[in-house]
Amino acid sequence: MALTETVPAAAPPAHEGILRRQSLRESAARTYARSLPIVPVRARGLTIEGADGRRYLDCLSGAGTLALGHNHPVVLEAIRTVLDSGAPLHVLDLATPVKDAFTTELFATLPGKLAETARIQFCGPAGTDAVEAAFKLVRTATGRDGLMAFSGAYHGMTAEALAASGGAQHTSVVRLPYPYDYRCPFQTGGERGAELSARWTQSLLDDPKSGVRRPAGMILEPVQGEGGVIPAPDGWLRRMREITAARQIPLIVDEVQTGVGRTGAFWAVDHSGIVPDVIVLSKAIGGSLPLAVIVYREELDAWQPGAHAGTFRGNQLAMAAGAATLAYVRTNGLDRRAGELGRRMLDRLTALAAAHDCIGDVRGRGLMLGVELVDRSADADAMGARPADPQLAAAVQHACLERGLIVELGGRHSAVVRLLPPLTITDEQAEAILDRLADAIAAAVRTTPGPTGSSPTTMRGTSP
Ligand code: PMP
Repeated sequence: MALTETVPAAAPPAHEGILRRQSLRESAARTYARSLPIVPVRARGLTIEGADGRRYLDCLSGAGTLALGHNHPVVLEAIRTVLDSGAPLHVLDLATPVKDAFTTELFATLPGKLAETARIQFCGPAGTDAVEAAFKLVRTATGRDGLMAFSGAYHGMTAEALAASGGAQHTSVVRLPYPYDYRCPFQTGGERGAELSARWTQSLLDDPKSGVRRPAGMILEPVQGEGGVIPAPDGWLRRMREITAARQIPLIVDEVQTGVGRTGAFWAVDHSGIVPDVIVLSKAIGGSLPLAVIVYREELDAWQPGAHAGTFRGNQLAMAAGAATLAYVRTNGLDRRAGELGRRMLDRLTALAAAHDCIGDVRGRGLMLGVELVDRSADADAMGARPADPQLAAAVQHACLERGLIVELGGRHSAVVRLLPPLTITDEQAEAILDRLADAIAAAVRTTPGPTGSSPTTMRGTSP
């Protein structure tokens, strides 16, 4: 099924011209546009319609931004209300009723102790800017400079956020092992792997000759998203909290992607019950518009006026859309719904993995799901893990698009198919997503030779 099939042959397809001009005019650094050559013109809920008239189920959701899907009525209503009120749309960081309401709604959802005493800093509109703010905050408060971050992490593309991410080329950030069951660096996995990761962290901090000084802060994602959908065990998160608290190291939790119900709890830290010193928030908190903040313990609020300024910190439309989204997720229990539906989808993905040798692992939490594709013809390591197969993953992504399903790839080798559907999807839509994915994987294994040059990967049985 070609993308252009529904376009009449006589009419020059407008979307083709748009795509051609994009490839001629936009930067070589463009990303999603390369693997998803579509031109969205309309969208509602889970569905996007392209300029070519085709419809797609959108499991990318603006990289996890659209908790309520595209153009949810409560979000549109909130935006319209601000527009119709004549309120200023640009206000720097001045106080407004819209901002006041957003802050009240956000604080109502924060983990226990933080809710009582939190401070909030409105940042430039991207997640990466809030990460920069968090680093600046803890450096000022502690008077220390160093940072600790984890292998496989993703915190953004500005200099310091990138330095704390797994893809950093040059960094002075101390890198710690993240518990990754399928590819456990200690070759044990499970609770033991997580415990060894915690012990390694502890020994680096306590060994006076480790070469690592007490840092200004530690940053982690409760579920690594771009790193390949890797949920941290709750026990490990509690250990990280204990280790950092005992050494007066502020713990920064990056909930840019996991926040607002995505993982089956309002904030992913709620699963473990830990209370971070700083939480970094963006994506879903803006209800599909750009907004980023940090919330943190008031004791850390030692920086000077203007220490983290920026022109675009007062997006009134985003605050209104965000407040409406937060309230809708909270009052409709969409976090619980994400947890239940995510478990059922994971069960079906587990059955799919049993049917395909090329699926090395399936994992996730709530509606943040990942399918790791591997080279079935290569030898497995002692833990049973096989090398990643990015070529097959790209073929699956392409086959999904042909079947009207938008998925994203992530993971260390871009071999993890990621599903981030809106929290509002129905059971039937979840089934349709998995049907299309199963079909796409079956088609991709028929046509893609393994990276070791073997014959096309085969199925273990019939797909569920
Ligand atoms: N942190 C995490 C966990 C993210 O997933 C992302 C974006 N994918 C960021 C930070 C950076 O956010 P932004 O792209 O808005 O700068």
